[in-house]
Amino acid sequence: MTQRIYYTEPYRRAFDAKVLTATAAGDRLHVTLDQTTFYPTSGGQPYDTGTLGGAAVVDVVDNDDGTITHVVSGSLKLGDVVSGEIDWARRFDHMQQHTGQHVLSAAFDRLFGVRTESFHMGQLSSTIDLAREVTATEVARAEDDANRVVWEDRPVTIRFVTAEEAASMGMRKESGRTGTLRLIDVQEYDLSACGGTHVDRTGAIGIIAIGSVEKFKGGSRVEFLCGGRALERFRLWKGALSSMQKHLSVPPTDMAASIERMQVDAKAAQRNIRAFQEKLAGHEAMMLLSRGSSVIVQALEGWDPQGLKAIAVAATAANPAAEVVLFTATNPAQVVIARGASSTIDASAVLKNLAAKFGGKGGGKPDLAQGGGLSAPIQELVTYAKTLLS
Ligand SMILES: [Zn+2]
Repeated sequence: MTQRIYYTEPYRRAFDAKVLTATAAGDRLHVTLDQTTFYPTSGGQPYDTGTLGGAAVVDVVDNDDGTITHVVSGSLKLGDVVSGEIDWARRFDHMQQHTGQHVLSAAFDRLFGVRTESFHMGQLSSTIDLAREVTATEVARAEDDANRVVWEDRPVTIRFVTAEEAASMGMRKESGRTGTLRLIDVQEYDLSACGGTHVDRTGAIGIIAIGSVEKFKGGSRVEFLCGGRALERFRLWKGALSSMQKHLSVPPTDMAASIERMQVDAKAAQRNIRAFQEKLAGHEAMMLLSRGSSVIVQALEGWDPQGLKAIAVAATAANPAAEVVLFTATNPAQVVIARGASSTIDASAVLKNLAAKFGGKGGGKPDLAQGGGLSAPIQELVTYAKTLLS
């Protein structure tokens, strides 16, 4: 058994302890101590980092036999008395998120009778999974009530009771454990069995801000950020919003409407360009045919595949004998192959031949085929395509 100092003194950062076991594991050392303030990953809360005897603690694992393994990058000797210190910024962040979770889960439970099925603390935000789907109104009301409790700065106390005593105390969630239970008591708001680390007054949570809410396994997955994380997210969004504001020149509340207008305008502009392109394609086709040959193989600067297709279709409609292979003037190139009604070439076979030699892919029918990813200089593509038509 390792004595867990954080059970009774969650604000303790430094401690001295005796090395009980030290086992090499690759370039790491697995160390157990007689006591520790290092929290091991459990109950949705990640492990503490810090130093032990001057060596870095890179992971902390909770073992079934009640001991805690410190994964250390450095050397410690059996029997040594070493000083340990946790990374307080990381731990305090975990305490804010974890206590905030108790309060937020209690809010959903007290207001709407919705249970929290699980809790996960991620690197940037945390989530709780609720037993049923919640509405936006319910989310807002739970968020309001949880923050009321934060701002009332209620005491959060740690109590140890027997499982029998706990049964009659009205806990939010019954515990499956036997023997002594560690209860976290948010004064007159929440009573839960929990082995994690928590702040000692709700005021230290700072704020509980709900992020995204998604459907999850028949319920809702609610993302939330407490204290410092909420401030970080606020800064992130503030930065994103102010850079958007530079481009849009409207206040944040008008941004969505402004972007919507821009999208409508862009679509209209695109439709205009397409219409012009169609007209221009007809002229381009006539120009290509006016050279006198019904076999047209070339790359056209400034045209995209859709434009090339319009040219090829116009050319083969105007001249039933036309056989047209048009490339974009890019490397890799895209290609459109078309034939008129009286031609007997197979456009998709020509495409297959091109793709076999130059890479790329595509598809189509005997009268019209389209592809892309042909990697070769344009002249090489044109020369080879000509041999396929002769
Ligand atoms: Zn907890």
